[in-house]
Amino acid sequence: MLSRYFQKSCTLNKPPVAVVEHLSLAYIDEETSAKFKGPIQASFSEDIGNPLPKAWVETFGELGYPVSGDPFSGEAVGGYINAMNIHPTTKQRSHSGSAYYEPVQSRKNLQVITSASVEKLVLGRQDGQIVAQGVSYVKDGQTQTVLAAKEVILAAGVFNTPKLLELSGIGSASLLESLNIPVYIDNENVGENCKIIQTPDLVSRSTMASKPSMIWPDRTWLLSVQLWKTMQRIRAVRLRLVATSLAVSYPWSTFSLQMGRMT
Ligand SMILES: Cc1cc2nc3c(=O)[nH]c(=O)nc-3n(C[C@H](O)[C@H](O)[C@H](O)COP(=O)(O)OP(=O)(O)OC[C@H]3O[C@@H](n4cnc5c(N)ncnc54)[C@H](O)[C@@H]3O)c2cc1C
Repeated sequence: MLSRYFQKSCTLNKPPVAVVEHLSLAYIDEETSAKFKGPIQASFSEDIGNPLPKAWVETFGELGYPVSGDPFSGEAVGGYINAMNIHPTTKQRSHSGSAYYEPVQSRKNLQVITSASVEKLVLGRQDGQIVAQGVSYVKDGQTQTVLAAKEVILAAGVFNTPKLLELSGIGSASLLESLNIPVYIDNENVGENCKIIQTPDLVSRSTMASKPSMIWPDRTWLLSVQLWKTMQRIRAVRLRLVATSLAVSYPWSTFSLQMGRMT
């Protein structure tokens, strides 16, 4: 469901052949990569002198967990090297500021208000529908309201997005009524069902030292236990890898274990 939005957000830049070989990137599926056409630039480290990424992939392969496909398809499982949000030419971090904002910052019809805290959406009714008409925010101690000509996009992060919806009157009616918030839309799912997905990797010692104790999506629980057992077996290998890494700088790569579907 979310895959088309991922595809709109970033471009997957094709790595050089030597990098494909060193990072074991044979999983890259050109057809899948071609679907990613967004402003954020993703690329792979070209530091082919670093032994850790290669060892990471080979270790999981030998343990019977090679990556099963291109993780960007949303269908792969296994250990692999992930792309970073780094521009392939400038080698600078590619982020929403550089990729979305900077190219349009001189537009006269764009105004960015900083150091402002949104308190809630301004909701109204139009043709029998509830519509977001604007936002109410506080800046310098003053409450202000801006009204939208077209649409309001709420992107306040994983916790504050549902919180702002609830403060605006979109959420579980019983909860909102208990807090004297007028209910616009009764939806008991808002603010619920948050699950944390744990990523075991080389730098997470606690992950390897303790059993999985966080909340996992049901369908990946079995795999997570198997992977935890694998991580226990890998500890000895890891010690050897760490010893190797003492001689090299910390890798500019992300080591990943794909636990289930991304979509
Ligand atoms: C430690 C850590 C590591 C991560 N590593 C990765 C990774 O390697 N790869 C990956 O893909 N993802 C990673 N993620 C997840 C990724 O950071 C998030 O999925 C992504 O940032 C979500 O983007 P967003 O724009 O929805 O929200 P956010 O990036 O959270 O942005 C929300 C913005 O809204 C602002 N805001 C919140 N409330 C208000 C308010 N009331 N008024 C005004 N502004 C408000 C916040 O200040 C923030 O700037 C990581 C997350 C964490 C915490």
